[in-house]
Amino acid sequence: MGRILVSACLAGVNCKYSGGHNLVPAIAELVAKGKAVPVCPETLGGLKIPRPPAEIQGGDGRDVLAGRARVVDKEGKDVTAAFLRGAAATLAKAREIEAELVVLKEKSPSCGSKFIYDGTFTGTKRPGFGVTTALLREHGFRVISEEEFAFKV
Ligand code: SF4
Repeated sequence: MGRILVSACLAGVNCKYSGGHNLVPAIAELVAKGKAVPVCPETLGGLKIPRPPAEIQGGDGRDVLAGRARVVDKEGKDVTAAFLRGAAATLAKAREIEAELVVLKEKSPSCGSKFIYDGTFTGTKRPGFGVTTALLREHGFRVISEEEFAFKV
């Protein structure tokens, strides 16, 4: 099996907006064994830890890529450019390691692969892709969530 690209927060890296992580021990183990490579699109895009939470307004990651939607943080700042930079850097990493699978954190505005939040900052989910997931899928990478991954190990 080739290498896997994973959300760094799933491997226990404290890169979440809150400064915490979303550790999944099986994913951290793959990183420790060199079988998976951790990446955090939002910090690669230049966002700080901690940072205000952000949500996509006006659509999902596909709409952001198409210029029809934007990413806004809870303080009202447009952070779309940072999200696009982070997605591009993550795509470059996926290509570099020739990732055969990408496992990203569900519901994140970058990393969500089935669901994201709806842009109202009320904890309301909607179906959709995060910005990085949308870009990776557009370029043919297979992206699943940690929830789907749990059924494969
Ligand atoms: Fe985790 Fe992705 Fe958010 Fe980074 S951008 S903290 S990897 S969910």
